[in-house]
This record gives sequence, structure tokens and C-alpha cells, in this order.
Amino acid sequence: MNVITVDGLSKTYDQGTTQVNALKDVSFNINQGEFVAVVGASGSGKSTLLHMLGGLDKPSGGYVHIDGEDLYALKEKERAVFRRRKIGFIFQAYNLIPVLNVEENIHLPLLLDHRQPDKAYINDLIHTLGLHERRRHLPSELSGGQQQRVAIGRALAYRPAIVLADEPTGNLDSANGREVIELLKLAVRQYHQTVIVITHDMNIASEADRVLHLQDGKLLNDTQSLGRDL
Ligand code: ADP
Ligand code: ADP
Repeated sequence: MNVITVDGLSKTYDQGTTQVNALKDVSFNINQGEFVAVVGASGSGKSTLLHMLGGLDKPSGGYVHIDGEDLYALKEKERAVFRRRKIGFIFQAYNLIPVLNVEENIHLPLLLDHRQPDKAYINDLIHTLGLHERRRHLPSELSGGQQQRVAIGRALAYRPAIVLADEPTGNLDSANGREVIELLKLAVRQYHQTVIVITHDMNIASEADRVLHLQDGKLLNDTQSLGRDL
């Protein structure tokens, strides 16, 4: 089943007196439970695409349908609610709240949405993330890898249908990066979540069910010239 349908998506940014076409007529479908890597050179439009999929910024043209809902036909407030329910974000900057401990940071999206946490699941998640001995620690008391795992916990805590990750392993050493990818794959396998990851890491891309390769704002064929400009 298609969970994401992108049709004719384009995005133009104004940069002073010039304009940049960050995405040009991009179309694709993604099935529920797919693990998708987004690759391409710096400036090819990867972050822009992720922002559009997540309802964070309006496209200049085209459509994004998530679970059959036309994302940008929703009013701003409705889109914000929809996004919180359906989509978990993992950014390279962890964006953890410094005065909240590990457990509180992970629970935050549920609290904001007035939803009851599934305690058993979150407990499992904290264990899987290797954070059980750190659950009362503040972000400042954690290593970079641990902070990234908290950010992943926060994105997975309410089991969103879609997880969007912008270079989640970019700041991690290869062992920690490996673990992060295993966790995301687990989300796909166990909970049939759809995971879309921007990466420069060829090893990660080679493990994905699908690779979306952007070049200068255009989507190349899934198989075309993979690995040339990661
Ligand atoms: P990537 O993630 O592949 O590095 P981006 O999506 O960040 O690519 O950027 C694609 C192009 O759009 C680049 O030329 C970038 O400078 C431009 N761009 C991205 N975001 C903005 C913005 N908020 N305002 C203006 N230009 C932007
Ligand atoms: P990456 O290559 O890792 O995607 P970038 O540095 O290209 O990182 O972009 C990070 C974010 O900064 C983008 O998603 C976009 O929102 C913003 N950005 C990028 N280029 C510009 C720009 N020229 N003007 C304003 N914002 C930008």
C-alpha cells in the first residue's frame, strides 16, 4: 500500500535577487514498511525533499499525499496535528530539551499531543536504545551517540507511520552509526513503519529497500548512477 505519493513536486527558493529550483518535478511512491535512502550531492535537494514530505515547508508546485491525505490542502494547524500523529523526525542536530532528562525528552511528543504513552513499548525502546541506565540523565550528561539515540527514541515513541531522518548518523562514529541504522531497520521490520533516511553513507544506502537519487533537484531512476556523487 502506498503511504506516500509525491506528484510533480517542485520547490523554488528566493535567494536575494535570484531563485533556486531546489526540486524540479519530482514524482514517486513509497510503500508502507519500506526503508528508503535519499542520496545525492550537497545542494541536490535532499533536505528540501524531506521538509516537503514532513509538511514543514510549502511546495511551489505539485502534491504530497500521506496516507491518502493531501498534505498541503490541510490548513496550517491541521497539518501540524497530522504531522505530529503520523511523522517522526530525526535531525542531525538532536534538538533535545536540555532541562528534561532522557525519559522526559522521549515522552515529550506524546505529552504535547495529550496521548497516553504505551509504557511497555517505551520501556522496551529505552532498553533497545541502550539508554536504560541513563534514563534520568540530562542531555548534557550524555555522549553524542547517546543523545542521537534519545532523539531516535523521541521520534519512535508514538510509533509514527513515517520516520524521516536527515543524516542521522552524520555525527556518529561507525559503530554508533551502525546501531542507529539497525534500530531504524527494526522499526521497519517490527512495526511496519516507513523510514526515509538522507545519507552520504554508501553502506547505509546499499541496505535500503530503495534508493532515491537526487541530482540538481531532479530524481534519477532508482538504479541510475548510484554511488557516483554520494
Ligand atoms: P541538500 O540537502 O541535498 O544538501 P538542500 O535541499 O539543502 O540540498 O538545498 C537545495 C538547494 O536549495 C541548495 O541550492 C540550497 O542552497 C537551496 N536552499 C535550501 N533551503 C533553502 C532556503 N531555506 N532558502 C533558500 N535556499 C535554500
Ligand atoms: P545538508 O547539505 O546537510 O542538507 P545544508 O547546509 O544544505 O545541509 O542545509 C541545511 C538546511 O539549511 C536546509 O535544509 C535549509 O533549510 C537551510 N538552507 C540551506 N541552504 C540555504 C540557503 N541558501 N538559505 C537559507 N537556508 C538554507
